[in-house]
Amino acid sequence: MHESINEQQCIWKSGLVLSKDETKAEVIEYYGKREIKIRVSGRHKRDLMTIVTHELDKIHDSYQRLKYNKLIPCNCVTCKDSQEPHFYKLENLRNRLAKQKYDVECDLSLD
Ligand SMILES: [Zn+2]
Repeated sequence: MHESINEQQCIWKSGLVLSKDETKAEVIEYYGKREIKIRVSGRHKRDLMTIVTHELDKIHDSYQRLKYNKLIPCNCVTCKDSQEPHFYKLENLRNRLAKQKYDVECDLSLD
């Protein structure tokens, strides 16, 4: 996605900022924690998140034995502005949606 690097300058050893359609995505690798965090802001957050995660999936899928989880931060009142929110597994949330379960309890706030 090199053509989308913000102003062709926002890139450093462990991360970058992508810019596309009035939307920005910050992608940072936390090597010691074995995490990659993606934050999006702007007009088309969902679209850019889909593009970034699709590209990451392609990279991940090129390693046959690599196991990873996709985690979504909780958006409850306690977690929303927290540096350490509760995380849900994306797969679990999707299963819940498929079974029309629209509520899930936060492990931290129990809301
Ligand atoms: Zn929460």
